[in-house]
Amino acid sequence: MKFVDLRSDTVTHPTAEMRKAMYEAEVGDDVYQEDPTIIRLEALGAQLTGKEAGLFVTSGTMGNQIAAMVHTKKSDEIICEVESHIYYYEVAGLACLSGAQARPLLGDRGILSAEQIRSAIRGIDIHVPDTGLICLENTHNRAGGTCYTKEGLAAIQEVAAANQIPIHMDGARIFNAATALAVPAAKLTCYADSVQFCLSKGLGAPVGSLLVGKRDFIEKARRFRKMLGGGLRQSGILAAAGILALTKMVDRLAEDHENARKLGYALADMGLKIDVSTIQTNIIIFDVAPTGKTAKEFAGELRANGIKVNEFGEYKIRMVTHYGVTREDIDYVIGVAARIVKG
Ligand SMILES: *Cc1c(COP(=O)(O)O)cnc(C)c1O
Repeated sequence: MKFVDLRSDTVTHPTAEMRKAMYEAEVGDDVYQEDPTIIRLEALGAQLTGKEAGLFVTSGTMGNQIAAMVHTKKSDEIICEVESHIYYYEVAGLACLSGAQARPLLGDRGILSAEQIRSAIRGIDIHVPDTGLICLENTHNRAGGTCYTKEGLAAIQEVAAANQIPIHMDGARIFNAATALAVPAAKLTCYADSVQFCLSKGLGAPVGSLLVGKRDFIEKARRFRKMLGGGLRQSGILAAAGILALTKMVDRLAEDHENARKLGYALADMGLKIDVSTIQTNIIIFDVAPTGKTAKEFAGELRANGIKVNEFGEYKIRMVTHYGVTREDIDYVIGVAARIVKG
């Protein structure tokens, strides 16, 4: 039986080239900032995103939370999207670690507008918190991998600058966004003060994310990383895979997007409910209600055919394409889904 894992792009395994580079990596103690491979990775990440400096962190969650800790003070408010990872999936870290309150706004397919951010910014009033940070998720995970346009980001940056509020971009999949818009990632990250992006998702590294920003921001972030237990030692072993993630794996993301498009449109043709305008990158979310089955039942039938997916609520299913999923796998999934829909 075929086996296709569409639960997430986090399930990707390091490539043979990555494993070899990890084996051979030059290392040092990174808490002393003496790991040459970490230093190379951080410089590369900063360069690709047009920032002064980078910091290797153990996960995207750690990168986002450290960014909020640096940008905000206790009692601040953080503007974010209601389904954003930093609000939905990070165990109330903003409240616990930054002592800040989230101000979740409902985006259009996950995307916030400059106007709605402008009207959510607090004024000066003894009763209200200070707006300390704006967090933008690009691509937006729970909305189905949707992207901000450059114009949208520029308008938000203008509002943020006028109010002297920093922007953090949760760019876990920023290279997917850059691929979809056919621009270098730096053309998107230039609108944010800090950016977190994952090496471990579609880019295939086994562990880690990078946090990038201005040099003084990264120096503060380094202290918080230590506080959270993220000061690693010979982590060049991990950075060696991260360097290959950034140099060898970005160009092929377009394939994942093509596969997602093919799969998404095929599911729509079968009568499953899917907003095709959200098929922009490597994530598709669809509603199985028209089949009379629940997501659990539909996913169970997929699983019986070797296909793993994530349920997203009672009737929704998420599928994520990645380099472990081939064009033939997509055809197989389409065939199985068609049989399930027909009953
Ligand atoms: C996966 C993800 C993260 C967090 O990454 P982890 O490495 O799993 O902590 C953050 N933001 C978004 C949008 C994600 O999809």
